[in-house]
Amino acid sequence: MTLTDETSTIPAGGPTLEQVRRIVTELPGPRSAAILARKADAVASGVAHSMPVSVVAAGGGVVVDADGNSLIDLGSGIAVTSVGNAHPKVAAAVAAQAAQFTHTCFMVSPYESYVDVAEALNRLTPGGFAKKTALFNSGAEAVENAIKIARKHTGRQAVVAFDHGYHGRTNLTMALTAKAMPYKSGFGPFAPEIYRVPGSYPYRDGLTGAEAAKRAITLIEKQIGADSLAAVIIEPIQGEGGFIVPADGFLDAVVAWCRENGVVFIADEVQTGFARTGAMFASEIFGIEPDLITTAKGIAAGLPLAGVTGRAEIMDAAHAGGLGGTYGGNPIACAAALAAIDAFENDGLVERAQQIGTVLTERLRAIRENDPRLGDIRGHGAMIAVEFVDAETGAPDAALTGAVAKACVAEGVIILTCGTFGNVIRFLPPLSIGDDLLNEGIDVLAAALERA
Ligand SMILES: *Cc1c(COP(=O)(O)O)cnc(C)c1O
Repeated sequence: MTLTDETSTIPAGGPTLEQVRRIVTELPGPRSAAILARKADAVASGVAHSMPVSVVAAGGGVVVDADGNSLIDLGSGIAVTSVGNAHPKVAAAVAAQAAQFTHTCFMVSPYESYVDVAEALNRLTPGGFAKKTALFNSGAEAVENAIKIARKHTGRQAVVAFDHGYHGRTNLTMALTAKAMPYKSGFGPFAPEIYRVPGSYPYRDGLTGAEAAKRAITLIEKQIGADSLAAVIIEPIQGEGGFIVPADGFLDAVVAWCRENGVVFIADEVQTGFARTGAMFASEIFGIEPDLITTAKGIAAGLPLAGVTGRAEIMDAAHAGGLGGTYGGNPIACAAALAAIDAFENDGLVERAQQIGTVLTERLRAIRENDPRLGDIRGHGAMIAVEFVDAETGAPDAALTGAVAKACVAEGVIILTCGTFGNVIRFLPPLSIGDDLLNEGIDVLAAALERA
C-alpha cells in the first residue's frame, strides 16, 4: 500500500472526529493485527496493552484505530486526556512552541512558560499560603522529588504510604506502591525507610474516618515514631487501588496529626488532579490543604509533564542544583499545559466532570437495583468505579470483572480495570465526551453484565 492510500483513510483527530461507536472489523482488525505482531517482535513483553488496536486518531469521546474502528473512550489514556485528545488549543500551542524552540534545559537557560506553569499551579492548588513549584516528566518522578524535598526539609528519613496506594514504577515509588503484581514482583530490592499502614476503605473496613485515622496514627507512632518520619503520602482518592474514597474525617485527621508532629503531608494528585473529580483538585473535596501536592497525568493533555507544588519554605529546603533533570518542564510540555489549564479554567470542565459523575452514578445505581454483583459504586466527578463481588459472600469477583471488561473491549468500549483484588471497573472518560457516548458505553457494559 502506498503512503497516500494509507493517509487518505486516516481521519483528523480532535473534536471534529465523528462521535460514534463503530466496529467494522473484529478487534484487532487486519491493520492493527499486523502492527501488534510487530510490537510482539520489537517491544519488550513487559510493556503490555489492554486494547488490541493500533490508534490513528482520537478526540472528543472516541479513539479510532488503523482499521477504521471507532471506540468509545472511557479511559482517557488513564486520566490524561481530560481536556480531550488533540484539543485544538493544545495542538496549536504545541505546534507553535515546536517551531520556536524545543529544548534548552530549564537548568541551563530558563524560559517563561515554565514560570507560567509554576504560577498557575501555585494559584490553582489548594492551600492559602505562599507556594512554589518544580516541574518534572512523570508522576513517579514528581513523587520521588516530593519525598526528596520532604526529607531535606525535615532532616528525617521515614515515609509512610498506605494499603492500596499507587505512586509509580521507579525504585522509590515501587516501594511506596502497595500491589505486588504486576508492579513490584521480582523487581526488588526496594528503597528503605518506607512503611505501609492501613488507610480508610469504608466498603471493606467498616470504620469511620476517625477510627481509620486513629488506627493508622497509632501504628505510625508505635512502629515508626513521629520524630523519624519525614512525610506521609496518600492519594486523596486512591486510583489504581480501586478508586477508594476515604471515609469523612480520615484525611483531615491525618493532616492534623502531621501538622502537630512536623511531618510533611503529601497529597499525590497525579490521577485525581485537574478537574477529574469535579473539583480542580480532590483535596478540596475533603477540605484539606496538603503541604505538598504532586501532579501529572491530566496536566498537559498527554505531553509528559509533572509537578511538585507546595509550601514555599518546604519547597525551598533543597539546595540550588538539588532538584531538576534534563527534560523537566520541557517547553513543548509547558505550552501544552498552559493550553490545557486554559481549557480547564475557561471551558467549564470542572462542572462537566460533575455532570459526568451524575450520569455515570445514576446509570450504575439503576443497574445495581437488579444486580447485587455491583457491590459498591463510588468516586467523585469523572472518576467513578464499580467494585464487583460475589452476590452471596461479598468476596471480590475478579473473574466477572475481567469477563465484563473483555466483552466491552470487543464491542468497542475502552474500559479500564483496577483494584488490589482486580475486581473494579473504573470510568475515566475525557471531559470532552458527550452524554450520548457515555450512555452508550454504559449500555454496552450493562449488556455484557447480563450475559456474564
Ligand atoms: C499514574 C500515577 C503515578 C505515576 O505516574 P507516571 O506518570 O506513570 O509515572 C503516581 N501516582 C498516582 C496516584 C498515579 O495515578
